Amino acid sequence: MTTYLVTGGAGFVGSHLIDRLLEEGHSVLCVDNMVTGSRTNIAHHLSNPKFEIMRHDVTFPLYVEVDAIFNLACPASPVSYQKDPVQTIKTSVLGAINILGLAKRLKCPVVQASTSEVYGSPERHPQDESYWGNVNPIGPRACYDEGKRVAETLFFDYRRQHNVDAKVVRIFNTYGPRMAVDDGRVVSNFIVQALKGEDITIYGDGTQTRSFCYVSDLVDGLVRTMETGRDFSGPVNIGNPAELSVHGLAKQVIELTRSHSLLKTMPLPVDDPIKRKPDISIAREHLNWSPEVELKDGLIATIDYFRSLGM
Ligand code: NAD
Ligand code: UDP
Ligand code: UDP
Repeated sequence: MTTYLVTGGAGFVGSHLIDRLLEEGHSVLCVDNMVTGSRTNIAHHLSNPKFEIMRHDVTFPLYVEVDAIFNLACPASPVSYQKDPVQTIKTSVLGAINILGLAKRLKCPVVQASTSEVYGSPERHPQDESYWGNVNPIGPRACYDEGKRVAETLFFDYRRQHNVDAKVVRIFNTYGPRMAVDDGRVVSNFIVQALKGEDITIYGDGTQTRSFCYVSDLVDGLVRTMETGRDFSGPVNIGNPAELSVHGLAKQVIELTRSHSLLKTMPLPVDDPIKRKPDISIAREHLNWSPEVELKDGLIATIDYFRSLGM
């Protein structure tokens, strides 16, 4: 049995990771400042003696005793990370320094939730881990992209300079139950709009692509990364290579919800990447990982979740 620290554990991905770790019989300390997370995501564990929650902001030092760390704390949707950009970049940078300082003192492994956003609007397609990216350092997405890029730098410097078993996972767009209704991401927006019969908001012409990974597949990738030996650092892409246009996603959601919603075109946000698709060769080879959940099945589970909220 291991005691895990999961920062950002009350969020969408973190809460599913905690489900998995507790199911496997481990203990979990969830650290979260609740900026985008919610107690309801982890409410089902509150009476479990192996589960503990601590309200704390990772931009401040954290002194706890654990065996392994997943660092997920950071708002993830453009709407939420652009609400307070300075706090977003502090969370990635100061958060990484504190969490790496903690891992260094504890001599324990630490996995960083990085993002496909480090590739920016990519000029190489699909994106493999050797690609350095095409990121605007001063645009509205920079607080997130550049924050995550600095966090990666810190992870590799703590590995080289302080011998910390630091690992980096680059997560591509992930969806599933417990996405926040109002966080503005495309899958949650489209499903909520379709269920309410509201117009589906397509930003730009809808030809931009994303590759959507179901949350249980991502959690499996995170756990497998933690289980690698200290020689494995990543960065490793975790995502589903099945690429889809935003317009194609809207059509699928309308079909699966049997909605009468109409499509409504809205301006494309500044610096919105035109395409994105992971090359997952490293994950296949080093983690023996590949995604298992088809988009249709994942969307049905996510639609059921939003229906259960009364949408
Ligand atoms: P989320 O917003 O649902 O969860 C993030 C959690 O971190 C929330 O519970 C929030 O309250 C907490 N948090 C934010 N700032 C904090 C701080 N300063 N101190 C402590 N807690 C803080 O987002 P998510 O989708 O669950 O994403 C989890 C991680 O995965 C993030 O690091 C995100 O960047 C990364 N990621 C997610 C996706 C995706 O598609 N979901 C894609 C790429 C990367
Ligand atoms: N830190 C922490 N918890 C610990 C150990 C360190 O939060 O258990 C923080 C500490 O505040 C420090 C940061 O992590 O600012 C980086 O730690 P490191 O040991 O690398 O740096 P130093 O303490 O030498 O500045
Ligand atoms: N998008 C959209 N309508 C929405 C929300 C998002 O067309 O209501 C688009 C957005 O412009 C982007 C894609 O969907 O091209 C994915 O957006 P999301 O915010 O989910 O993730 P990210 O841009 O971070 O990949």
